[in-house]
Amino acid sequence: MLINNVNSPEFALVRQWIAEAQRITAITGAGISTASGIPDFRGPNGLWTKNPLAEKASNIRVYLKDEEVRIAGWKASSDRQLRSVEPNVGHHALVELERRGQLHGLVTQNVDGLHVGAGNSRELVHEVHGTWQFTRCISCREQRPVEETLKRVDAGEADPKCLKCGGLMKRDVILFGEALVDEVIAVALKAAEEADLILAIGSSLNVMPAANVVPRGKAAGAKVVIINGQPTEMDHFADAFLLGDISELLPALVAIPD
Ligand SMILES: [Zn+2]
Repeated sequence: MLINNVNSPEFALVRQWIAEAQRITAITGAGISTASGIPDFRGPNGLWTKNPLAEKASNIRVYLKDEEVRIAGWKASSDRQLRSVEPNVGHHALVELERRGQLHGLVTQNVDGLHVGAGNSRELVHEVHGTWQFTRCISCREQRPVEETLKRVDAGEADPKCLKCGGLMKRDVILFGEALVDEVIAVALKAAEEADLILAIGSSLNVMPAANVVPRGKAAGAKVVIINGQPTEMDHFADAFLLGDISELLPALVAIPD
């Protein structure tokens, strides 16, 4: 069922499914954060287009051996535009589902930290690709709030080292060449299998294993609702596919029916 009109009877039906669901597991991708002004990486004004060395910082092997690349990475990280992003109405709609006791899990491919920033509980949010909101020491694994490290960068430490052991640090995200964290993936897939409704939002659902949330939930009997600006790899699993602007569709979908 393809739906692109919030005033249609089909949309009302899906809204009813959401209102009646008891264990919703959501999976989100970049599309939910677009309205927050998260800059893209490879577009004309993308972070990596403007700063190609920062793209190299996204590969763990290069990051470890090349100080110049790390310095470019920290410089890109300290970009004001990235540090001031705020959650938008889409994130807040998922906070509302948690407030009503309906949210069972929130699996995200995003590293922007905006779900926790909006008010979803850390225990429910499974950040499968890590988070920008912390740094981690590569040697002793110490995790610190990112702002603490970025203030050191602002103050002139171009390649800040761990305050505890002197090791190299990085944003606490999974870089190219690094394995995902098995425990986080396992918890995310378990949340999918325990759900009675899977809500996939703003993801093209082509990155495994996170996208497996959809078929795993479906196989365990959940309804699948996909909301995206474009078709996805998993539309054939969808009981309903809502095509359009997430900032418009998601708040309307989560609103309690009259
Ligand atoms: Zn350390």
